[in-house]
Amino acid sequence: MVERVYNFSPGPAVLPYEVLEQASRDILNFQGTGMGLIEVSHRSKEFMAVTDQAEALLRELMRIPDNYKVLFLQGGASSQFFMVPMNLLGTGKKACYLNTGTWAKKAIKEAKLFGEVEVAYSSEEQNFVRVPQASEYQISDDAEYLYLVSNNTIYGTQFPEFPKADKMLVCDMSSDILSRTFDVSQFGLIFAGAQKNLGPAGVTIVVIREDLLDRTPPNTPTMLSYKTHADKGSMFNTPPCFAVYIVGEVLKWLKKTGGVEAIEKINREKAALLYAKIDESAYYRGHAEVASRSLMNVTFNLPTKELEAKFVAEATAIGLNGLKGHRSVGGCRASIYNAFPRDGVVKLVDFMRKFEKNNPA
Ligand SMILES: *Cc1c(COP(=O)(O)O)cnc(C)c1O
Repeated sequence: MVERVYNFSPGPAVLPYEVLEQASRDILNFQGTGMGLIEVSHRSKEFMAVTDQAEALLRELMRIPDNYKVLFLQGGASSQFFMVPMNLLGTGKKACYLNTGTWAKKAIKEAKLFGEVEVAYSSEEQNFVRVPQASEYQISDDAEYLYLVSNNTIYGTQFPEFPKADKMLVCDMSSDILSRTFDVSQFGLIFAGAQKNLGPAGVTIVVIREDLLDRTPPNTPTMLSYKTHADKGSMFNTPPCFAVYIVGEVLKWLKKTGGVEAIEKINREKAALLYAKIDESAYYRGHAEVASRSLMNVTFNLPTKELEAKFVAEATAIGLNGLKGHRSVGGCRASIYNAFPRDGVVKLVDFMRKFEKNNPA
């Protein structure tokens, strides 16, 4: 095995080693075709089988009901910020948004281009340290959907459970899709850029309830209409073949690991180890409020900026990579997605203990 560091990067992020090994073989010769996997036609039977299997596994692992379509799109999660309102929000209609961080804010900005946006909750003044409980906001009766970001990658907050509102939910799950179980049928649309928890950059997964495909206004550009991609099985144009293939391999790995229930248990254990360390000393301060803590991105500060820089440098030197926090929070962020090994978390906690002892505030 190639020597690997523990990669705490927020995205693109660590992938299972066995997936990388398989991909490195397939990139040279894909299933004995004598062609590399990024050289075969997307309409070849070999590649069609890859897409079909990735979709089937996603449906199985997420328990996606039959009345939903699964799409493999391009343009990143950020393109969904405008595709959602462009397709679902006819002119003059209203949608309700929860402003829980940078990604929500960007989605709000785009939605305003297409309709009326009601920001029902915002934690911006507290630098997004929390997500709301359902009792903290109201949704207008005439709102078409309630939009939320399930895990706020930058701030390290996450909805512990989804609102039980009788409003249709639309959710950006880019940084926690497949990390925990939930009921898909509450949602009209779910999307996720692959590069946090699912695969490489280049593909965005959209899960959309079928009846919503008919809402798209007729003057919508063909490529930006969900129906185009739904009708053609994500093969209207050339899909991001390599990224779809890797997502399929990651899903195979996840199934072998025991599926979403099993990975959720491991994710909870990993996060608990880190939060226990943060809570046990005043040296490390968690950014997120306890009830809003993310299982995927653990954000924390040290007593001073200088100590934070030293912490990141010394961690990097012993193979703990990617711990520098986002500039809007500062400090440190440990991203511990599905493929991040528990051993790396144990090693980080041990390093935190030693660093605190050797570098008193
Ligand atoms: C990373 C991220 C995005 C942006 O994804 P791109 O694919 O770079 O557009 C959007 N939402 C969330 C929650 C993210 O973590």
